[in-house]
Amino acid sequence: MNTDDLDKIIKEISKYKVISPSQLTELLINFGDEVIRAVELLNSNRAFRIKMGKYMVDAFSGDSGDYIIFDQVGYCGCMSRHPINITRRKFCPHIIAFKILKALDKIEELEFSENDFDWVMRYLKFNIEEAWPI
Ligand SMILES: [Zn+2]
Repeated sequence: MNTDDLDKIIKEISKYKVISPSQLTELLINFGDEVIRAVELLNSNRAFRIKMGKYMVDAFSGDSGDYIIFDQVGYCGCMSRHPINITRRKFCPHIIAFKILKALDKIEELEFSENDFDWVMRYLKFNIEEAWPI
């Protein structure tokens, strides 16, 4: 299953604001363990959109850290721990959960001042470096 197939299911979830058993089955068949983990993450408020003046960044609070998320391109900061996932175009549970929660309008919005941009980005970047020390 590629990004387009996932986005097709996400679009359907977004339209009806619910995940049907057949959509869940399709996700499970194509993503296996990652979907099981993603579903476990759905009931907790872990998906954030952080607004800082004219800046905005998405993040997901995983069990081992808070990760920056670029869901449109399928990138999550946790991938720095498993860089092979980037080249394999494999989705982590955070991205799958983020996409589903976004489709269900369940992204929590945090509002900061534009002056907070530096420390917020440093914090999220820190988690990337911590996950993959060079
Ligand atoms: Zn992740």
